[in-house]
Amino acid sequence: MKGKLTGGCLCGEVRYTLREGMRLNAYACHCTDCQTRTGSAFSEHMLFAMSDLDISGDLDIGEYRQPSGANSRIVGCARCKTRIYAMNDTREGLASLRCGTLDDSSSFVPVAHFWVKSKQPWIQLPEGAKTMDEQPRSNEKWLEYVGMA
Ligand SMILES: [Zn+2]
Ligand SMILES: [Zn+2]
Repeated sequence: MKGKLTGGCLCGEVRYTLREGMRLNAYACHCTDCQTRTGSAFSEHMLFAMSDLDISGDLDIGEYRQPSGANSRIVGCARCKTRIYAMNDTREGLASLRCGTLDDSSSFVPVAHFWVKSKQPWIQLPEGAKTMDEQPRSNEKWLEYVGMA
């Protein structure tokens, strides 16, 4: 999705603008970590350059060491605990937006589905969707599956 994007948390404390810049298309992650972190069946992410984000409001950060050893930090509203974006110390300068926090999240359709091996069995993926049992392990694979927006 091109252009400027806006969004925020549930209570209105946190608002953000994502300038048009370097971003990839949205994807869905069905890994069990995302299921636990969101309390839901999957999460919708979009990778973007942190330098394109303007965010305001009282934020707090949750930390988690991934099985790969990477340290993941998720940033959200300190008041209502809506999660806005996550950073991971293996991808400097990039962050992953939780697409459901966008003001117009309905216009986002994930172009790929990752970790389908732990997908909830009742979810039917759209015909022709790009899928992977786990997730891309190289920048080339990320671009092949998700692509620049
Ligand atoms: Zn809030
Ligand atoms: Zn995941």
